[in-house]
Amino acid sequence: MQALPPGSTIGILGAGQLGRMLALAAARLGFKCHVYNDATGPACDVAAVTTLGPFDDEARLKSFAAAVDVVTYEFENVPVAAAAEVARIKPVRPGLKALEVSQDRLAEKRFVAELKRPLARFAVIAGPDDFREALRSVGLPAILKTRRLGYDGKGQMRIETPPDMPAAFAAIGGAPATLEAIVDFVSEISVLLVRSGAGETRFYDIPLNRHEGGILRTSTVPCDLPEQHQVRARAIAGELAAALDYVGVLSVEMFYTGPGADPLIVNEFAPRVHNSGHWTIDACAVSQFENHIRAIAGWPLGSSQRHSDAQMTNLIGPEAGDWAQLAAEPGACVHLYGKGEARPGRKMGHVTRIKARSGSG
Ligand code: AMP
Repeated sequence: MQALPPGSTIGILGAGQLGRMLALAAARLGFKCHVYNDATGPACDVAAVTTLGPFDDEARLKSFAAAVDVVTYEFENVPVAAAAEVARIKPVRPGLKALEVSQDRLAEKRFVAELKRPLARFAVIAGPDDFREALRSVGLPAILKTRRLGYDGKGQMRIETPPDMPAAFAAIGGAPATLEAIVDFVSEISVLLVRSGAGETRFYDIPLNRHEGGILRTSTVPCDLPEQHQVRARAIAGELAAALDYVGVLSVEMFYTGPGADPLIVNEFAPRVHNSGHWTIDACAVSQFENHIRAIAGWPLGSSQRHSDAQMTNLIGPEAGDWAQLAAEPGACVHLYGKGEARPGRKMGHVTRIKARSGSG
């Protein structure tokens, strides 16, 4: 892959906070960013150019593709047809396969299962006729999840008893879904890796992730996952990346079920930079955002070494109103996404608290 020289333009499909942080990292390397989205968003404030248009506007997508040198996406629900339209004109990295597989929970689970990696027990729900057999094979308690467009706990309902099913299915809009066994996990972790076009792969330290109400609350490094399991977690993620012929940053979320022979269960993966890697901006030589840009631009990958211990806390809804106190706190690195309305559950920013690196991890 030929390296794109500084001054080139990186196209980003999507305009959220991940696009914003990608564009900031790209600017540091001398690139310009051109964002395409159906509505304005946090990335537009820092991108050189924004095109607003629906994702089914072929003509607009074509002129966007013509104006950039390489294209990436910052959320996995970009319609595959839109990415394919762009890919006819300019390289899209990571490729369409990663996008296609990760936007459908069932395709994602089948993909992981084909690689013989452990998943929570699951069943496919197309409609009410599937309830009985799914409950029988999965067991209770379980979680009903929409196959598409779920995020931050949205499109998910917990099932405690069989009579919960009809109301839960109605609550997720009667959409095609999967029923998943509840995993009795000790902790949640994620593997963040960056893979170059030549297949070179570098891993960040594995964060321990704590969720509240389905939304990531904190990511902490180092995590206390035993070393042999960290090795295994990285191997699983590396295999997924290789099978997807992946270029860029990939994140794989896993449950750790405690001491045992095979205690890591893959929850899901995201073909993009990830919230649980935001700490890399302040605690690593080269952040996940810069490494994603390097990978898709064909540059040498940067170091993923961590120089500090860190805990990233999301600022959700009104919490971002504490910016003045946070800004005055020693060791706190404040990141605000420039979003207008602080609605409950909305990620408005994050703060990463860093301190000198402790021993290993
Ligand atoms: P997801 O959208 O699948 O990442 O789910 C959001 C969060 O809900 C996860 O990070 C977990 O905290 C929780 N969760 C999802 N699926 C399961 C499961 N099968 N067992 C236990 N907790 C789960």
